[in-house]
Amino acid sequence: MATDYYELLQVSPQATPDEIKRSYRRLARQYHPDTNADPAAEGRFKEIGLAYEVLSDPQRRQHYDQFGPEGAARGSGDPFGAGAGFGDIFDAFFGGGGGGAGFGGGRSGPTGPPPGADLEARIDLDFEQAVFGAQSPVTVRTAVACETCEATGAAPGSSAETCRECNGAGQVRRVRQSILGQMVTAGACPRCNGLGQVVPNPCPQCRGEGRKIEERTYHVDIPAGVDTGSTLRLTGMGAVGPRGGGAGDLYVHCRVRPHDRFERDGNDLHHTLHLPFTQAALGAEVNLETLDGDEELTIPAGTQTGKQFRLRGRGVPNVHGRGRGDLMVTLAVDTPAALDEQQDELLRRLAELRGEAVAPPDKGVFSKLRSAFK
Ligand code: ZN
Repeated sequence: MATDYYELLQVSPQATPDEIKRSYRRLARQYHPDTNADPAAEGRFKEIGLAYEVLSDPQRRQHYDQFGPEGAARGSGDPFGAGAGFGDIFDAFFGGGGGGAGFGGGRSGPTGPPPGADLEARIDLDFEQAVFGAQSPVTVRTAVACETCEATGAAPGSSAETCRECNGAGQVRRVRQSILGQMVTAGACPRCNGLGQVVPNPCPQCRGEGRKIEERTYHVDIPAGVDTGSTLRLTGMGAVGPRGGGAGDLYVHCRVRPHDRFERDGNDLHHTLHLPFTQAALGAEVNLETLDGDEELTIPAGTQTGKQFRLRGRGVPNVHGRGRGDLMVTLAVDTPAALDEQQDELLRRLAELRGEAVAPPDKGVFSKLRSAFK
């Protein structure tokens, strides 16, 4: 699909809102599936509808100019949700009054202003924050109620009125002729954009929208046990709808930074503990740093590489609050390397006592080393 919205609407990037509207109406008539039998027309009709939706909204047009179609896309990035201009498709066919502020009330029923869009945000957490829970800030671009008009959209001292066109129903029925014969359609009232109310004297602050775009920072309670891929739903913390419409939800997607010592497997943690072979052979009490603090771990004499210890309840809490996973410690016995002369001699003596054949000593090594440090 062509993504140059200006090209789709056959206007220049400097076109005025009026030129865009005129061109859109002409093209909408030309490509409307009711009047154009070409099967490709419907696709084109939708494309120009989308292009107009973006370019008819000053804020979205500016975003489009800056960032391209991605920047103007509806959905998560767009606090105002479903775009403007739906009512204009009726204008294109029936003429009629400019339907007030162009916000996305088009598809709403007669039951009052539509709710605002759901928003999405991502949060990056440290490993420990995810394990033990945290409060973390998340900043979103959202729509909040306009204080000047208290979200009514009406200038102070004035108020909204019931729409004459639909008598407050928000919907109108139309009878019209098409190539298929007489058709009755019901759709959002073009005068009030489906809201059932009009604002004759719009609030100067929000131009009748009843809300404004703002950056907001929320402090989100992260429950213990979240992981990368966890999504928190914060009900009612999304964008507010136009003119007092309810708020959508805020979805926060979690991403957890890895830990340098622990690896997570569900609610269990895995850790590899390196141990010198002397401790593994003779047994030892070693200190183990867990996420809950230090713990003594008893290594029995003769412990081999790969031996696992399970520390119950030292893993990750279940995010739904049911218990905790375990910490699995896997032992890795380290072979001593870079032996000095005395250690080398001792090990050879040990090998001799155990009847184990070893490579002959490299006589030169220590004298060479010694000469290197002189
Ligand atoms: Zn206002």
